[in-house]
Amino acid sequence: MTPAAGAPTIREAADALAAGATTSVALTGRVFDRIAAVESRVNAYLTLTQDAALAQAAAADARRAAGTSLGPLDGVPLALKDNLCTRGVATTCASRMLEGFVPPYSATVVERLAAAGAVFTGKTNLDEFAMGSSTENSAFGPTRNPWDLSRVPGGSSGGSAAAVAAGEALGALGSDTGGSIRQPAALCGLTGLKPTYGRVSRYGLVAFASSLDQVGPLARTAEDAALLLEAIEGYDSRDSTSVRRDWEKPLAALTGDLKGKVIGVAEEWYGPGLDPEVRRAVESVRPVLEKLGCTFRTVRLPLQDYGLPVYYLIAPAEASSNLARYDGVKYGRRVEGAHLIEMMKKTRSAGFGPEVKRRIILGTYVLSAGYYDAYYLKALKARTRLRQDFEAALSACDALLSPATPTPAFRIGEKADDPLQMYLSDIYTVSINLAGIPALVFPCGMSGGGLPIGAQLIGRAWEDAALLRLAHRYQAETDWHRKAAPCA
Ligand code: GLN
Repeated sequence: MTPAAGAPTIREAADALAAGATTSVALTGRVFDRIAAVESRVNAYLTLTQDAALAQAAAADARRAAGTSLGPLDGVPLALKDNLCTRGVATTCASRMLEGFVPPYSATVVERLAAAGAVFTGKTNLDEFAMGSSTENSAFGPTRNPWDLSRVPGGSSGGSAAAVAAGEALGALGSDTGGSIRQPAALCGLTGLKPTYGRVSRYGLVAFASSLDQVGPLARTAEDAALLLEAIEGYDSRDSTSVRRDWEKPLAALTGDLKGKVIGVAEEWYGPGLDPEVRRAVESVRPVLEKLGCTFRTVRLPLQDYGLPVYYLIAPAEASSNLARYDGVKYGRRVEGAHLIEMMKKTRSAGFGPEVKRRIILGTYVLSAGYYDAYYLKALKARTRLRQDFEAALSACDALLSPATPTPAFRIGEKADDPLQMYLSDIYTVSINLAGIPALVFPCGMSGGGLPIGAQLIGRAWEDAALLRLAHRYQAETDWHRKAAPCA
């Protein structure tokens, strides 16, 4: 019954805890045993918080013994991407710039998980400031894919994905600006959700591109993802883009009926760049959903080709502005200079890695006088058109089914020197962030070489729960999500 790497799912752990069949201290101990066994090869974590985790686990066990359990996540060991602020625990964004930075407050999502009783194993590796698709842009060394250690786990939430796939945590939070939850989920055989923009608080998530960033779950199953989403979602007055409204709750939605649901497929997604094995795996989802009562139809998304260029104008523009705060004055690294400007130059030259510098330069360029209208403003207009493109397709369908990535996991180093090739691995994910709508990735097959393949379901704004329901029902019919990463 236990899937990948012998670790239980969150649901299995929650049931075992509720039944008194295990304790959180035992569960957490086993997760740290697993970390001790594989972490030197996987490098999923930047910081481990074993002592605090065992204390949190003991507290969870005490609550349960006293009959005051906080619910299904009480005592469950989870990992946090290291761009989520954690009070008293280093938060580096995998950047030399924030090496040694210890935030005085926690992100809202971290507080909400803590209030649900979660045990925190540590902070996971990422591409520096979440900029990348392979976790190779970390200043502290790449994370390796537990399915094949010579390959990338995807990025930027590669540490969170690898930790869950390797059994080094039962679930994790990631962040997704252009695919950073979904692409690693696909490459590591996990279920990952990018929620509707505004559904999950960004307070305490270190900003990359604020109009695109969302926090979301990485887990083994859709049910686990629903458990995590239910705990973290909801209005937060500390995030000005947080939205207060009613939506279908993720857990209650899981068992609902799929009869009559219409799934759209766009020809635009099946162009020549798509690996035939990925194509076959994604197409194999259709008969399963049809059996469950869904019908399929072809839709058109004529503007899809603009997703990548628009994203790579808007995301760097926002990044260049967000990252202006790392000036050597307020926090993080500081390299002294003869005067203020020299100090800032030296600090930023030493603190940021090459990809972050590339984005800052690109973003500053497209925002500068004379280029703003031609690039940034034009990209904003194209973004609106892209969103309308999705709205039109989703007016006739309940969800869209697409590939998540063009290929399974690529080799470490394969794209590291070619930014454009790296950017192309986001081709199926970035336009969803531009549209602000939810999308969920789940495992749907394996390559001949034994690598997981993911499919993506895209939904209407606020209908995140509908995607979880589709994937949950799919997972009841299939066992791709139960395959174990060898982690050798
Ligand atoms: N890979 C994309 C980028 O490098 C998306 C990153 C993300 O979602 N944080 O911008």
